[in-house]
Amino acid sequence: TLSDKLDLVFKKLRGQGVMTEDNVKDALREVRLALLEADVNFKVVKDFVEKVRTRAVGTEVLQSLAPGQQVIKIVHDELVLLMGGSEDNSLDLAAKPPVAIMLVGLQGAGKTTSCGKLAKYLKGQRKKPLLVPADVYRPAAIEQLKVLGRQLDIEVFNSLATQKPLDICREAHRYATLNGFDVIIYDTAGRHQIDDYLMEELEGIRDELAPREILFVADAMTGQEAVNVAQGFNDRLGITGVILTKLDGDAKGGAALSIKAVTGKPVKFVGLGEKLDALDVFHADRLVSRILGMGDVLTLIEKAQSTFDEKEAARLQQKMKKSGGQFDLEDFRSQLQQIKKMGSLESIMNLIPGMGKAMKQMQGAQPSEKELKRIEAIIDSMTAKERANHTIINGSRRLRIAKGSGTSIQEVNQLLKRFTEAQKVVKQLQKMGPKGLMKGMKG
Ligand code: GDP
Ligand code: MG
Repeated sequence: TLSDKLDLVFKKLRGQGVMTEDNVKDALREVRLALLEADVNFKVVKDFVEKVRTRAVGTEVLQSLAPGQQVIKIVHDELVLLMGGSEDNSLDLAAKPPVAIMLVGLQGAGKTTSCGKLAKYLKGQRKKPLLVPADVYRPAAIEQLKVLGRQLDIEVFNSLATQKPLDICREAHRYATLNGFDVIIYDTAGRHQIDDYLMEELEGIRDELAPREILFVADAMTGQEAVNVAQGFNDRLGITGVILTKLDGDAKGGAALSIKAVTGKPVKFVGLGEKLDALDVFHADRLVSRILGMGDVLTLIEKAQSTFDEKEAARLQQKMKKSGGQFDLEDFRSQLQQIKKMGSLESIMNLIPGMGKAMKQMQGAQPSEKELKRIEAIIDSMTAKERANHTIINGSRRLRIAKGSGTSIQEVNQLLKRFTEAQKVVKQLQKMGPKGLMKGMKG
């Protein structure tokens, strides 16, 4: 990580007076590379590195801190400032209901999915949202939103693909007013590129329905390109904020920094998966930690806290304590059940430093629902002794377990292999120290 690299750069410097132009040069090169790697726009990087240089040069090298850490601290603080620091980036709903929110962005960015997530989020805040499909171009776009609405038990306005988007929004607004909805969420159409015709359509909706929020939905995976597109939408529509989607993937999220730096508009939410609860309120310091390779432990712990069964966590923790960090098949089974509740395993693992990569290495580690059932069946067919100590499961036991669970020996083998991998992961999690995962889970 950047932190390690800077420590190396500064190894010789510890306790040697002040930082000079000369000795921060190497550090800043690492900072620049890390930011570019994280998809931060190069102009933004240039200005930023200049700022850090000014602040770092002349700083006294503290005895107690490695200079690398000192620079990391400066970089971290400046990045958080660049992202708006502690500015309030919450959704602005301070208008006469029904308050309108309009989502805009390129095709495939995640608008429709984010509409669903946002509606769920608002419902959780005791609001009554109405979802409005206003994408009449993409085949089945209306149906897509209707499906989401059904899953969430949130009403979707009955638009027809033969209507004009502006007419749909106008009618939906009237409907929402008459029926006591608090919030209207307009799901608009996208294109592969910014296009004039679409912009005119969106401007028409904006001018007539005066949405309180115009949220630009940006796909974090598109990296640098997201900045230009954001600027294009902002120039035409005057966006009020950003939803950065697909941060559960490999993208480090540097696009968020660039978008904020270039448009001045805050990121309000981040999307962390395809599921409808995979939406987080944006926290600048967490994104910055992610960009600097410090992992997103805070988000993880919060997420774990809200879904992890407390009793189960306590049981597991008790057990870990007793056995000095050992973890058996019984625990593995209940972990899988907890993970099912928390959302995708991958999205959780990506939040832990270094864990995203570890997960990729243990190929196919994320079980599907069906696999999960099979795994549970296999573990159910074991004796308590076997669950407590998998090393006793020899060939004949494997055969018996396979028969008992209606699976094959290969599947039993595969599970045991996967389990030993999970054991390793658990050991790593344990290394996270007293502030580690289990504590976070227990709340
Ligand atoms: P739209 O064209 O902008 O409306 O985009 P959609 O909402 O239809 O999303 C396009 C694809 O991206 C779908 O397959 C979504 O499931 C997926 N998607 C949306 N948000 C996220 C996210 O935060 N993470 C991941 N992994 N996929 C997402
Ligand atoms: Mg859509």
